[in-house]
Amino acid sequence: MSKFWSSIVTRTEPYIPGEQINDPSIIKLNTNENPYPPSDSVENAIKDELGGNLKRYPSPTVDSLRETIAENYHVGKESIFVGNGSDEILGFSFMAFFEPGKTIRFPNISYSFYPVYAKLFNIPFDEVNVNSDFSLDPSAFFESDGGVIFPNPNAPTGILLSLSAVESIIVQNRNQVVIIDEAYIDFARETAVPLVAKYPNLLVIQTTSKSRSLAGLRVGYAIGHPDLIEGLNRIKNSFNSYTLDRLAIVGANAALLDKSYYEAITRKIIQTREWISKELTQLGFHVLPSQANFVFASHKKVTAINLYTLLKQNGILVRHFNQEPIDNYLRITIGSNTEMKLFMERLKRILRKNTHL
Ligand SMILES: *Cc1c(COP(=O)(O)O)cnc(C)c1O
Repeated sequence: MSKFWSSIVTRTEPYIPGEQINDPSIIKLNTNENPYPPSDSVENAIKDELGGNLKRYPSPTVDSLRETIAENYHVGKESIFVGNGSDEILGFSFMAFFEPGKTIRFPNISYSFYPVYAKLFNIPFDEVNVNSDFSLDPSAFFESDGGVIFPNPNAPTGILLSLSAVESIIVQNRNQVVIIDEAYIDFARETAVPLVAKYPNLLVIQTTSKSRSLAGLRVGYAIGHPDLIEGLNRIKNSFNSYTLDRLAIVGANAALLDKSYYEAITRKIIQTREWISKELTQLGFHVLPSQANFVFASHKKVTAINLYTLLKQNGILVRHFNQEPIDNYLRITIGSNTEMKLFMERLKRILRKNTHL
């Protein structure tokens, strides 16, 4: 607290990101990063750019990257906004599309950045209870006062809401903006992007941090009606003309062009996820059906906080949320096959010692 703080700073409760540890001997399964490196083309593009024009500002409109994204998703360039990570786009979206005084809705089990933005911008919110199996009830989001936002697949559960259910929420909120945070959609079946052409109230936000192995480069993008994109640009251009630097622009562009490489590592992660889900179930875990690059699991006998601590002592970092009703669950990022074999070995040893199986 300081008497010099504005009322905004005083009321804000910042988001706390997962631990970032630089010890290479730690198996890091706590922040849903991709275990595989980015495509070689990314490093080459960045090296070329380093030899070029760093003394000049980057493009304020980032047309090259927006064109690549537009081609990938079969929409026009005017339907694309790019930002410094999807978190920045989420923040801009709360300001651009949600109104102080009009209550928005998001699930009570969801990305914990949403209440942070809502409080920052003075937007009232209802946290809609998820079902007992952690799935979402679409009708609970119908006819909101101020708009709707949710991740799909949901975080930290990994559960996917079907495209028809997503569409019903958009249809039942014709006069509000519905934001779908698709940070993990490449590990799932179906994106809502094709619905953008049909619904001017839909904004889909994606990121290169997870499926494109570029968490360190900070590039996210939004796909929506050109009027929504213009709204985001008005906010962005009131903060910073250049949210993406030259290296980020060329790196993300190269990643989005190398589809075959990313399809291959995504397939590998999905295979490992299915294998790990089966193994954990056999070890006495309740594992939610994940369509993301992580699993959310709870053990019958050993508490999540104990497992978190024991795993950490054994060089494995996972994520635990100290918040009901998920405080007995662990979120485990899917690492490489090698990492996950070590994870299983150490977990089995821990369980043998701490249960009487
Ligand atoms: C990781 C994540 C993001 C943030 O991604 P960045 O692009 O790295 O800022 C947004 N939403 C959800 C649900 C996430 O899990």
